[in-house]
Amino acid sequence: MATVGSVTRQIAALELSNKKPGITTNNSTARPPLHSKHSSQTNVAKLLTKYAAPNPHLPGSSTKSTKPVAGTAIPKTKPPHTGNTPVPEATQPFDIGNYDGGLELENEKRGEKIFGEAAKELALDSSSAQKWPTREWSLHDFDMGRPLGKGKFGRVYMVRTKAEPKYIVALKTLYKSEIVKGKVEKQVRREIEIQQNLRHPNVLRLYGYFHDETRIFLMLEFAGKGELYKQLSKFGCFSEKRSSRYIDQMADALSYLHAKHVIHRDIKPENLLLGLNGELKIADFGWSVHAPGNRRRTMCGTLDYLPPEMVEGKEHTEKVDYWALGVLTYEFLIGNPPFEDRKSVDNTYRRIMRVDLRFPPGMSAEVKDLIARLLQHEPQDRIPLVDVLRHPWIVKYRPKDCNRGSEVY
Ligand code: AMP
Repeated sequence: MATVGSVTRQIAALELSNKKPGITTNNSTARPPLHSKHSSQTNVAKLLTKYAAPNPHLPGSSTKSTKPVAGTAIPKTKPPHTGNTPVPEATQPFDIGNYDGGLELENEKRGEKIFGEAAKELALDSSSAQKWPTREWSLHDFDMGRPLGKGKFGRVYMVRTKAEPKYIVALKTLYKSEIVKGKVEKQVRREIEIQQNLRHPNVLRLYGYFHDETRIFLMLEFAGKGELYKQLSKFGCFSEKRSSRYIDQMADALSYLHAKHVIHRDIKPENLLLGLNGELKIADFGWSVHAPGNRRRTMCGTLDYLPPEMVEGKEHTEKVDYWALGVLTYEFLIGNPPFEDRKSVDNTYRRIMRVDLRFPPGMSAEVKDLIARLLQHEPQDRIPLVDVLRHPWIVKYRPKDCNRGSEVY
């Protein structure tokens, strides 16, 4: 069975074979830097974008093209960070691993048909999306590869498109009957609609989606290094350098989302994936809300990451994500969220309300300053993301070739 490592190496090899003369690269066995926007990360972003499904309805885009135009959805103007540049066709096939037959087996057990309004609500197909429609997709268009994981609503597989050029994506299954049972039809629809319109290197791309009688399939960007949460569990905590680089990427991605009036509302390590070069990808838009100018009241998210205004059931804004960024910074460095009380949920609430923040010894003065500025009781007192991107603890560890913080979304 193929490992992520072997796929990474093949992509690295492809990256080299696609190099323009005169551009120096890492050798194929060397590990690329964790976070480097203009070197390997950009190249891999291009390659991953190449795996996006081309839209034959858009000018210049064809599945038969030898120089595929990248992306299911090609924005009219090139947004920052997307790396939506055409790249030459792959010269060697990727090993996507062995398929375990899980989808068919699972469909026998879980695949109940649904009817009526719910069936209409969940008849989701990106070929009929209002903005950036894709080509029509079905399960027959893919070679199935290895399982990547299991989620609440179904399995995720590594797959490759059968038609040339071959694109690799993570195909996520959602069982319609279970969505209906959980009464989350609207939430799922919203998650899909929000994610399909987002293009940022640190936000997991949704290239397209389609459905059959029992399931919805999401064609997601393949996050080659898997779940960030697993890394955090493995190492217990991260170094200041590694944490700073993740928080830099998070702050950039969140400013992009907020500029699009998208509040994530469920930032936590479990909702973050890692790309092939270890770059962070915000995934899971289940709780996110598109709220232009709106203040929201719904209580949602994970307890440890809830800001005081949500604990109190008050109106909240995008500044809930600033608070969560402070909690995340602390958890990366210490291994636990700052207000956690394993014995009592009420105590956690109380500690959040009082902003009972305690720093264990060994943390730098700079990171303590940043966390304290993010974890302010009053949303308007929290440090703006643009200032997070300029904060000494972030700037100190940012790779020299990364011009993060210069974009205005
Ligand atoms: P989810 O249903 O989103 O919770 O996904 C279940 C598991 O599948 C996750 O915990 C990941 O390990 C894996 N997974 C989901 N999406 C991707 C992706 N885009 N790339 C790689 N692995 C993924």
